[in-house]
Amino acid sequence: MKFAFLVHPISDYTGELWDLAIAAADLRSAWGNDPFRSCSLLRQAMRHAMEAAGSEAGEIRVVDNITGLVSVNGRPSEGRIYEIPLRAEEFLANPTNAIEQVRTAAEQAVEWGAEIVGLGAMTGIVGAHGTWLAENLPIAVTTGNSLTVYAAYRNLLTACEELDIDLTQETVAVVGIPGSIATGLAGLIKPHCRELLVVSRQSSPRALKRAESLGAELLTDIEEALQRSRIILTATSSGGAVPPAKLRSGSIVLDVAVPPDVEGAGINRTDVLILTAGLSQIPATMPRESGFLWFHRGMIPSCLAETMVLALEDRKESLSLGQNLSLAAIERIGQIAESHKFGFGTLHSFGHPIELSRLTEFRKTLRRRRSQGGGIVKRSTSLLPTRSASLLYQRHINPILGHPELKDVLVKTFVRGEGMHLYDEQGREYLDFVAGFGSVNLGHNPPQVVGAIREALTAQVPGFAQAAVNPLAAKLADELVAVSPQGLDQVFFSNSGSEANEAALKLARAVTGRTAYLSCERSYHGKTLGSLSVTGNVSYRKPFEPLIPDCHRIPFGDFEKLEEQLETGRYAAFIVEPIQAEGGMYEPRHGWLREAESLCRANNTLFIVDEVQTGMGRTGNLFACDHDEVSPDVMTLAKSLGGGMMPIGATLMRREHWNKAYGSLTQFALHTSTFGGGSLACAAGSAAVDALSNEQLLHNVNDRSEELKAGLKELCNRHVCLKEVRGRGLLLGLEFHPLPKQAQRHWAGSDSWMGSLLGTDVEAILSTFSVLYVVQTLLDAHRIYTQSARSNPFVVRIQPPLIITSEQVQRFLSAMGETCEELDRAIRLTDNLMARSVNGRLANA
Ligand code: PLP
Repeated sequence: MKFAFLVHPISDYTGELWDLAIAAADLRSAWGNDPFRSCSLLRQAMRHAMEAAGSEAGEIRVVDNITGLVSVNGRPSEGRIYEIPLRAEEFLANPTNAIEQVRTAAEQAVEWGAEIVGLGAMTGIVGAHGTWLAENLPIAVTTGNSLTVYAAYRNLLTACEELDIDLTQETVAVVGIPGSIATGLAGLIKPHCRELLVVSRQSSPRALKRAESLGAELLTDIEEALQRSRIILTATSSGGAVPPAKLRSGSIVLDVAVPPDVEGAGINRTDVLILTAGLSQIPATMPRESGFLWFHRGMIPSCLAETMVLALEDRKESLSLGQNLSLAAIERIGQIAESHKFGFGTLHSFGHPIELSRLTEFRKTLRRRRSQGGGIVKRSTSLLPTRSASLLYQRHINPILGHPELKDVLVKTFVRGEGMHLYDEQGREYLDFVAGFGSVNLGHNPPQVVGAIREALTAQVPGFAQAAVNPLAAKLADELVAVSPQGLDQVFFSNSGSEANEAALKLARAVTGRTAYLSCERSYHGKTLGSLSVTGNVSYRKPFEPLIPDCHRIPFGDFEKLEEQLETGRYAAFIVEPIQAEGGMYEPRHGWLREAESLCRANNTLFIVDEVQTGMGRTGNLFACDHDEVSPDVMTLAKSLGGGMMPIGATLMRREHWNKAYGSLTQFALHTSTFGGGSLACAAGSAAVDALSNEQLLHNVNDRSEELKAGLKELCNRHVCLKEVRGRGLLLGLEFHPLPKQAQRHWAGSDSWMGSLLGTDVEAILSTFSVLYVVQTLLDAHRIYTQSARSNPFVVRIQPPLIITSEQVQRFLSAMGETCEELDRAIRLTDNLMARSVNGRLANA
C-alpha cells in the first residue's frame, strides 16, 4: 500500500537539512565504512540541493521517495514525502492558510495513489490534529503520535537501564501538558516512577483536568520542575521550553519536541544528558536510499514510522487523531512496529547516536553523585548481568569478541558447564573440544574439585594471610613434589602460566648470573613481558618491542643449533614445551628432550620445561616430560592444576637453586605474589592432582587418543582440505591446507563486515578460512565447540576434557567428516566458478 508523509521546514536550521552542508557531515562519518552508500548519499544531497535552489517559494513538492519496502508478510509498500513550504511560526500565524496547504498536499497524495497520509510536525497540529483532514478527504490519516509516545517511553526505559537508574525511586517531570504526546507519555510512565510532575505553560481547565486524571501535580513554572526532577520528558509544540542552564547536574532530558525543547546542538554541559527521544530505527533489511533526515543512518521520526507501519500492515484506517491518545493503542502500535522489526533501543543526542564514551562518563557522574547521597544507586544482586553479556564485552572487555556480527556465530556466551558439556544462554548443549585450552582436563565443575572447594569454604579457611604458613599450600606443594620428576623439591605458587614462567626465568638469572635466554621458534610461554620475550610467535612480540634483551630462538627439535648456542656459555636458561601446543601441536623427535637436558647440564644452563598446557594428564602421563624420562631443573604448571575452577600456577625447582637465589633472610621474599598459593586455589589444586593422577583416567586419555588419531588419519586420506593430524594423548591438532588462492579471491568480496573487522590482514585471514568454516560449522550444525591453535590458525585443536567417552569421540569424528566433506565441495565449486570467470567475475554474470 502506498503512503504519503507531509513535512515542512521546521526552522531556519532544519530548513537547511536538505542542504549539502549537513549531508556532508553525515558523509564524513559514513565514508569510512561504506563508500558505496556515501556516494549514493552524495548524489541525493546534490539532487536535493539543486531542487531546493530551483524550486519556487510557496510550492508544495515531493522531496523524496521511499521505495522497496516489504512487510514481514511479504507485502510491498512505497511512499512519498511532500514538503509544505511553511515554517513552524507561519503555521501558527495563519492556520487557515496552513490547513489549506495541508489539504492540497494530501490531495496530491491521493491523486498519486496513497491510501494513508502521515502528518509530520506542525502539519499534524493544524486541523484539530488530523481530524479535519480525515473527515474531509478520502484517505486514512495519522499524526503518528502514538508511535512517537511509544518510542520515547522505550527510550526512557533504555536510558534508565543504561544508566542504572531505578525509575521507581525517581520524580519524573513531563513538560507539554495538555498536549497529546506529553499526556500519552505521562500516562505510560506514571506506573513506573515514584512521583509524576506535569508541566504546562499556564494553568488551564484542560491542563488541570489532565493532571488530575493522571494523579500528578501540575506545575506552571518550568524552573521549579527542573529543580524537583532530574528526569524530564518534554514534548511541547512550540519548542525551546527547557532552558539548559537551569538543569540540575545529573539531569536527563528526553526531548520529543519538534522543534526541540532544548535548543543548541552545541550545549557544552557534560553533567547533563540531552536525548533526542521519539525516533524509530528502521528494520535492518529496509533500503536506506532516502535522504530524509537520518533515514540513511536507519533513524526516522516515529510519526513517519507509524505511517510506514500502517502502510506495511495494509491498514487503511486513521490512527492517533485528536487530542486524546489511547494508551492501549499506543502499546499496540508499538508492538506491531516491533513485529515489523522497527527498533527503539538506541539512544540519540541532537539527532546523532550517542557516543558510548559519553554514556559511560555520564553513568560515572551519576554513580558519583548518587554515592554522595544524591539519589538511589540501582544495585545488581543477580549472578549474571541484566544486560547482554556480549554487549558488555563489546563495550568494556573486548570489542572484537563482543562484535555483534560474531555473536552466536563464532563467539558464544556460555552460561553453564558440566562435565564434557557447555550450555549457552538458550540452554543449548555443546560438546567441549577446547577444555579451556587445557584448563578443564577434569571436565566442567568436576565433583571432586567442587567438593574440595566447598569443604574449604565450610571450614572457613583464611583466603589470604601474607607472610604466614598456609596449610593448604603446604599440602599441595608436598603432593606436587611427590608426583613430579626427579630432583624437583621446591614450589613457588602464582596465578597463571605466564607468571609461573616469569618465576622460572628470574630464578635462572639469579642462579647462573647470566642474562640471556634460549627458547624455540613457534613456542608459546605466555604474554607477560618476560614470558613473551621467550615466546616464538613474532606477531605477539612485535608490538611490544624492545622486550628483554638477549633472547634467542632455535628451531624446535634441532640438536645442532641447540648445541651451538648453549656452548657459547651465555644462556641462563633454555625454556621448552615438550609438545608445542599453541604453535600447532608439534612433537619433537623422540630423544631430543633428553639431549637438550644433557646439553643444558653440560653448559650450566637451567633446563626449564614448560608443562603449562602439556601437564596434568593431557598427554596420557601426568607430565609430558615423563614420556622421555627427563629431569628438568625447573618445571612450570598452571591451567588444569586449578581443577578447571581456580587460577593457580606453580614453578617447581631444585632446592640447591632455590637456596642460591632466595635462601637467606634478605633474599627469601625477593620474588612473591599476593594471591599465589591462596587457600581455595590450593584446595582445588590438591583435588586436581589427586584426580588427574588416576591411572584409569590416564588410560582413558591413551585409548581415546588412539581412536581419535585413527579416525582423523582416515579423514586426512579422504579429504583434500586436510593436511595431517599431530600430537599426543588428548593434545591433538588437525591441520588444514590454506584456502586455495582463487577461493580466497571469490570470498574476499562477499563479506563487507568481515573486511572491516579484519582490517588490512584480509588476505592472511582468508587463507585460514577453512578452519574458521570448520570451527563455525561444528559449533552451529553439530554443537561441538572447537578452536584453532592460537599461533597456528591452520590447525584445529582437538583437546577435549580427559573424561571423554568413546561415543563422544565417534560423534566428533562423524561431525568432522561431514564438515570436511562440505568444505571439499565448497572448494571444488569455487574452483569451478573461478575457472569460468574473467578477472574474478563470472563471464556470464
Ligand atoms: N605456557 C604454555 C605452554 C601455554 O600454553 C600457556 C597458555 O596457553 C602459557 C604458558 C601461558 O599461560 P597463561 O595464559 O595462564 O598465562
